[in-house]
Amino acid sequence: MARLVLKFGGTSVADVDRIRNVARHVKREVDAGHQVAVVLSAMAGKTNELVAWCKEAAPMHDAREYDVVVASGEQVTVGLLAIVLQSMGVDARSWCGWQVPIMTSGVHGSARIQNIDGAHLIERLEQGQVAVIAGFQGLGPDNRITTLGRGGSDTSAVAVAAAVKADRCDIYTDVDGVYTTDPRIVKEKARRLDRISYEEMLESASLGAKVLQTRSVELAMVHRVPVLVRSSFDDPDGPQPSLEGPFTGPGTLVCDEDEIVEQHIVSGIAYSKDEAKITLRRVADKPGIAAAVFGPLAEANINVDMIVQDVSEDGRTTDVTFTVPVADFERAKKVIEGAKETIEYEELSGSTDVVKVSVIGIGMRSHAGVAAKMFSALAERGINIQLISTSEIKVSVLIDAAYTELAVRTLHSVYGLDKQ
Ligand code: ADP
Ligand code: ASP
Ligand code: MG
Repeated sequence: MARLVLKFGGTSVADVDRIRNVARHVKREVDAGHQVAVVLSAMAGKTNELVAWCKEAAPMHDAREYDVVVASGEQVTVGLLAIVLQSMGVDARSWCGWQVPIMTSGVHGSARIQNIDGAHLIERLEQGQVAVIAGFQGLGPDNRITTLGRGGSDTSAVAVAAAVKADRCDIYTDVDGVYTTDPRIVKEKARRLDRISYEEMLESASLGAKVLQTRSVELAMVHRVPVLVRSSFDDPDGPQPSLEGPFTGPGTLVCDEDEIVEQHIVSGIAYSKDEAKITLRRVADKPGIAAAVFGPLAEANINVDMIVQDVSEDGRTTDVTFTVPVADFERAKKVIEGAKETIEYEELSGSTDVVKVSVIGIGMRSHAGVAAKMFSALAERGINIQLISTSEIKVSVLIDAAYTELAVRTLHSVYGLDKQ
């Protein structure tokens, strides 16, 4: 007998029929004698619709009211699943974030979970009741509803799993696991991984693989929660992973590095279109310039990612180029313009027609030449690299967005990731 948290994403709860299918997965685990907590997303497309309504009501709106509106999608699905489960004879009740309560920071729209007292939930689970918990939402220090940022139900699920000391957190989605790259881009050749380490999954998620929200992987890594990414479209009565002995599919297990027998140098390729590039030309080349540029951006809470500083054409000044999230592009330009007197640049330009493509793998720690291989493969295809950044287990390049697919496909085969 085990304690499981099952999370179902938007496409898995897209309508009442799909919710019935979710109930079959839940009932299977209950019938097997497991204690089950379920975390749900809103129906596919619902959150987008709610966000659009807020913008329509007023482009600049109160973030606390935005959270009240966008959190509502999850309230509908948890109620519906509880109804369906009850009609199948399964003892179940729904929980909104504030009822658990899932306590978060006060940053409305992108709050972080700070505490979940699992005692009450555990008591119900031990009584055999299924807890159906609304993902994405929580309760802030101001006693108001918060949301965790897009894709946040993954984080709710892992946080609940840690709070109730679950044996595993199963993330049910519309693909049957984590692939070597987004299967929507490299359709035939992407390969499902049996296992991926927390570190690699963390890099992949933060570099654009939206199959798991980055924060959920961080939490899983800190609390050592085994996470299984699997498909809700698989037959609910089909083969199931074993909890004892060596793990066997279906799905991809996100786990500790040393639990992975077969290590690859490169485990995946990720891409992110959520990038905007800003260039400052002919900046006075003197100490303190980087601080003058990046200080005000940090104060404005704008995350700068890739940075390059280069000698200008005139040989006397310097050019500074960096990237920020697309959503912060206009704000970042305004912040820089506001600091023009201290930065002393001549020209500011920017573009959102860029994409960041990354090669990820823990094997890079001990193998040289991964970056060089990437650069020459892109050069052979005539793809110009605008910016580069590296860490111990990844190499990222910024390129023209028009080459996204070509770059991802090329790198996927160059590193031997293509399905044979
Ligand atoms: P959900 O609504 O279930 O949370 P998401 O749309 O957030 O689902 O995440 C699943 C999607 O993530 C898949 O449909 C797939 O296109 C995309 N994805 C991106 N990169 C990967 C990857 N490396 N492996 C699997 N899926 C990926
Ligand atoms: N419904 C929310 C969203 O679409 C949270 C989630 O699905 O994870 O972002
Ligand atoms: Mg998601």
